Amino acid sequence: MRTRIVAGNWKLNGSRLANQRLVADILGGAADLSDTEIILCPPFVYLPAVGEQISGSNVQLGAQNAAAQASGAFTGEVSAAMLRDVGCSHVIVGHSERRALFGDTDEIVAGRFRAVHEQGLTPILCIGESLEERESGVTMTVIERQIGAVLDAVGVEPLAASVIAYEPVWAIGTGLTATPEQAQEVHSHVRSIIAARDAKIAAGLRILYGGSVKGANAAELFAMADIDGGLIGGAALDAAEFLTICRAAAGNN
Ligand code: PEP
Repeated sequence: MRTRIVAGNWKLNGSRLANQRLVADILGGAADLSDTEIILCPPFVYLPAVGEQISGSNVQLGAQNAAAQASGAFTGEVSAAMLRDVGCSHVIVGHSERRALFGDTDEIVAGRFRAVHEQGLTPILCIGESLEERESGVTMTVIERQIGAVLDAVGVEPLAASVIAYEPVWAIGTGLTATPEQAQEVHSHVRSIIAARDAKIAAGLRILYGGSVKGANAAELFAMADIDGGLIGGAALDAAEFLTICRAAAGNN
């Protein structure tokens, strides 16, 4: 049985005060959920404060992005080594908002993935198709291309220490959720892409679903064979909602 993961992507939200309250509320409910990995991904500037607040708890720290480069003249970037230095264990790479709004190509995402992996951090690689791509029947081709770029860059071995998040773009922040069956179909395909290179790595790989996951729909999604948890956006900003999702991942609701 793969240990489930629930990661909260706060996106461009938060303040010192709001974060303190949110984290305190999450810590209050997360303490007894030891068989599920819980990761909070605040904006860069809040990583040290959130890291300090969760220190000693069963909640881990993640970042929302990382530079492909190690250091140098890359104004505005934050390196994977810096993220490790401030206590991150996980880094989201290739979120669809980065791909769509900030020009992150498959190759750039692969470079970020490599940098994160080389620092011993766990990349959470986001993949997913747009509505147009789903409607034109190319969902699996898109997924294969996105994963293929990473496999071409780093090979399959790093996937043993990575997480993949399937996030259909049409479901992110829209209130539209993939049905458990739609998500399972893609998750199973993701696992088979990795299995074609290494069956053992594929069997252990955690594949998260993301896209309008809420307390009300989490349990049915997490009940699917290849859905190993969730990457949560909007609902991660509401402690009660987030904890309901965490409890669903832990099988406690
Ligand atoms: C996300 O930002 O990765 C996400 C899944 O957002 P939401 O849960 O709001 O759809």
